[in-house]
Amino acid sequence: MIYAEARAQVCEVAIRMWKAGLVVGSAGNVSARAPGSSEHFVITPSSIAYDELTPEQVVVVDEEGDLLELDDEEFDRAPSFETPVHLGVYAARPDVGAIVHTHSKWASARAVARAPIPPVVDEMVVYLGGTVEVASYASSGSEELAAAVVDALGPRSAVLLSAHGVLTTGKDLKKAFKNAELVEHVAQVVTLATQIRGAGLPLLPREVIEAEQQMYEIVKGM
Ligand SMILES: [Zn+2]
Repeated sequence: MIYAEARAQVCEVAIRMWKAGLVVGSAGNVSARAPGSSEHFVITPSSIAYDELTPEQVVVVDEEGDLLELDDEEFDRAPSFETPVHLGVYAARPDVGAIVHTHSKWASARAVARAPIPPVVDEMVVYLGGTVEVASYASSGSEELAAAVVDALGPRSAVLLSAHGVLTTGKDLKKAFKNAELVEHVAQVVTLATQIRGAGLPLLPREVIEAEQQMYEIVKGM
């Protein structure tokens, strides 16, 4: 099986995401750059039954999102509906090796409310790069959404998708998944803190943010 290890890893992370409750039903998707290739990507198929997902069902696409014909084709599969968003991020960010897109509850609530997550929690700047911005609304699966996501993501590792969910990036699948867990945690903490204190949470001191952003640049490549 071509890219066997990468497809097994995408399968494993997708199931972990589902078991962690970061998506319900067949929502969400996971992808990674195919190792040793600059133009191939491995991505979960559309309409996933997570409890039955196997590495063979993880598809391989090129930069245009076209499905590669595989010898081990056993399933009638289509790549994830959100493939254009993943490919847009890979094209804009050579440092990104993997992407996790979830509909986790607290992050999605903020995405629905169009409420960015400001840099008020120490660890979020080190691992996510700073504010988690909200990408302007565009319909699912569209090139417009891909452009909006790339724009709002900037050099950071997490972005909210208006009325939809959240997308995180990482050097590899492990990091992209950890960031998906972290952004959900931070979304919950910041939302609860806002209920306690009201709007206008105290930001981290500017010099701390700057130091942590420098750490972010180092940590994300490790
Ligand atoms: Zn989605």
